[in-house]
Amino acid sequence: MRVAFVDLARENSALRAPLEAAIRRVLESGRYLMGSEVERIEDAIADWHGVTSAVGVASGSDACEIAIRAAGWGDGARVATPAFGAVPTISAIEAAGATPVLVDVDPVTRGVSQDTLAAVKHDGAIVVHMFGVPCYVPSGAIEDCAHAMGATVGGSLVGTIGRAGALSYFPTKCLGNMGDGGMIVTSYAGLAARAIDIRHYGGLLSGDVTMRGQNSRLSEMSAAILGVKLAHLRAWNARRLQIALRYNAELAGRVVVPRIPEGTVPTFHCYVVESEHRDLLRAKLAALGIGTMTHYPRALHQYERWMGLGEPGQFPVAERLAATVLSLPLYPHMGDDEVEYVIRCVRECT
Ligand SMILES: *Cc1c(COP(=O)(O)O)cnc(C)c1O
Repeated sequence: MRVAFVDLARENSALRAPLEAAIRRVLESGRYLMGSEVERIEDAIADWHGVTSAVGVASGSDACEIAIRAAGWGDGARVATPAFGAVPTISAIEAAGATPVLVDVDPVTRGVSQDTLAAVKHDGAIVVHMFGVPCYVPSGAIEDCAHAMGATVGGSLVGTIGRAGALSYFPTKCLGNMGDGGMIVTSYAGLAARAIDIRHYGGLLSGDVTMRGQNSRLSEMSAAILGVKLAHLRAWNARRLQIALRYNAELAGRVVVPRIPEGTVPTFHCYVVESEHRDLLRAKLAALGIGTMTHYPRALHQYERWMGLGEPGQFPVAERLAATVLSLPLYPHMGDDEVEYVIRCVRECT
């Protein structure tokens, strides 16, 4: 048996008829940007989160950058972000003109904690719900929910806890487009209004240009595709969680399995174990036909560009994670036989 790390064709083929109908509707509409499909998906995503605004943009990276700028953390502001983080998140801080400040992460959530944030001076923070496990959200933070659309803490959806949530519709994400896409969710009317201006040349739609703008649009085709898939997100996330719980039960003790903080429901965009023998385990699983990945092989201060943001050893949890993490296949359309095969092989290799 072979188990691919991810199989997006399976997800999209299962929805072939409604996707074809949605694509045909846009094809025949004659309207490909800034139309009713985008309005409809923005309303649906805002309702889904129980917030007042959802602003569609061209990617998750743009969602982070535009949210940071719309929050007023532009030029020179110090924006804290996890050292065990995603390159697009820190890149968005830089693109916004702000200065990233790295903090270490908590070994349980693998995201920032109250203590690690308290250790640095910062004007704002963008936290990452890493792999879909909710992390600590300081008041007023922006939440990078690229892994976590649908995850909850104490019943509240991530993205609604801080001042805004940034979503990515990269094809592998929990809600994935067939192309790029992103969205900002917020109940702060001012932030939403500024995001709407920034995404369209700095406010041109409202008649005047009031700030440095850009072109960051979600297309009508993307919006129509996302509308079809949104209806399935809860069920897909539930299936992800079911597989993760199964892995956790069967693999604990063989590798370090992800923990589920009390009161949270994660989405498990990635199922990430830790092993001192990560590279060997990865090679053995590859030989057995199992695709794995490393999210992420470096802490951010271990990339050349951000070496100035931390000394070796300054963020020990982030560095340990980078050296030991391994992502196993986990996606809603995996069959139980595939899940069992992965379990059997990991047990055999450890
Ligand atoms: C995917 C991702 C992004 C960026 O999303 P794109 O749509 O690829 O630009 C941002 N943050 C995190 C944590 C991600 O995983």
